[in-house]
Amino acid sequence: MDILVVNCGSSSLKYQLINAKTEEVLASGICDRIGISGGAFSYKAKNKDKITKEVDLKDHEVAIGIVLNTLIDKEIGIIPSLDAIKAIGHRIVHGGEHFTKSAFINDEVIRHIEECADLAPLHNPAHLLGIRACKHLMPHTPMVAVFDTAFHQTMPPRAFIYGLPYEYYEKYKIRRYGFHGTSHSYVSKRTAEFLGIPLEKSKIITCHLGNGSSICAIENGKSVDTSMGLTPLEGLVMGTRSGDLDPAIIDYIAQKENKSTQEVLNILNKKSGVLGISGLSSDFRDLLAADEKGDLKARFAREVFAYRVAKYIGSYTAALSGVDAIAFCAGVGENAKFIRGKIVSHLEFLGITLDEEANLQTIGKEGIISTKNSKVKVCVIPTNEELMIARDTLEIVSKL
Ligand code: ADP
Repeated sequence: MDILVVNCGSSSLKYQLINAKTEEVLASGICDRIGISGGAFSYKAKNKDKITKEVDLKDHEVAIGIVLNTLIDKEIGIIPSLDAIKAIGHRIVHGGEHFTKSAFINDEVIRHIEECADLAPLHNPAHLLGIRACKHLMPHTPMVAVFDTAFHQTMPPRAFIYGLPYEYYEKYKIRRYGFHGTSHSYVSKRTAEFLGIPLEKSKIITCHLGNGSSICAIENGKSVDTSMGLTPLEGLVMGTRSGDLDPAIIDYIAQKENKSTQEVLNILNKKSGVLGISGLSSDFRDLLAADEKGDLKARFAREVFAYRVAKYIGSYTAALSGVDAIAFCAGVGENAKFIRGKIVSHLEFLGITLDEEANLQTIGKEGIISTKNSKVKVCVIPTNEELMIARDTLEIVSKL
């Protein structure tokens, strides 16, 4: 009994086939460059070599078709037939205020996902392409939508409202939604388990630091504040996104550079963050390599990134009136020891001390990186959004 987890972007589709009982990943891969030339497909089945091939991926349905055919292929497949797939779980970026938890996909749910497309124009339409393609190819397989925003729907109004005329919230639902909820939810639960503290009586700050980055304040297992807002542009300095800035800058750049608001927003989304500051790369591995060769801008970009994270941890400690544990996850959080070290060095005033050796050793795995007498436990907890999606999917379809 397996669950297929699908994460559809506008030109890519990531998938994992997960055994619902053992939670083992049976196969995973990516379809890349869907709808554009140079399509690519990758597939890695358990105990087998990874396969990559160039293939024309006309649309999402062609991509899903290749995934399904490969999973049941006589030579390289991992399941005897598509009947082994009990359900499909779809990652959906924006569920607006409507979705406070994962939902069985029916026509009404599809309509609500469509309605939220205004708030996530790059993501929700792509997810819908994935849903429709799966529905067409596997019409009898139940599907579940798991929303990035759902976990944050417990945020109190004082945390989600912007300092704008209130009518904009009432008329247009302009408010903070937050993203990466599946990751923050998984990592906070796992942090409590790992540290042996009761989740329902805990104050945890989770730091999802990847290409996109966000922080979440979690009280007794519930999100009470998070750094991303109406869109994923708010909050931390990210790989290519600016994060928080004075909104007046948008018009100022537009005037100076003779650009439209949309063009400036594109710069804030795609050309800013550590890429913009360093003028070099959005990838923290490139920045590390350049820094080691003496590139001062690469070092500066990493320091700015770490400083912003530390500031958010400070403010979320206030939001929670204290903190029991801080957890790092995602590509940077799980691997970048220099960045973690920098962040923690800003937090010594909270009685937090870094175990330098543990920090160096904890790469891509669970571990505590604070000293024994640190007032707050700091740990690394690799995130697993696909597993969370598979669990939610299984739970919902089991009740059908
Ligand atoms: P997303 O899922 O948001 O695309 P990831 O969680 O995969 O992103 O994180 C990608 C980021 O993690 C990249 O900036 C990459 O440089 C960084 N990263 C991955 N491995 C390492 C590493 N060993 N050291 C430093 N940074 C790393």
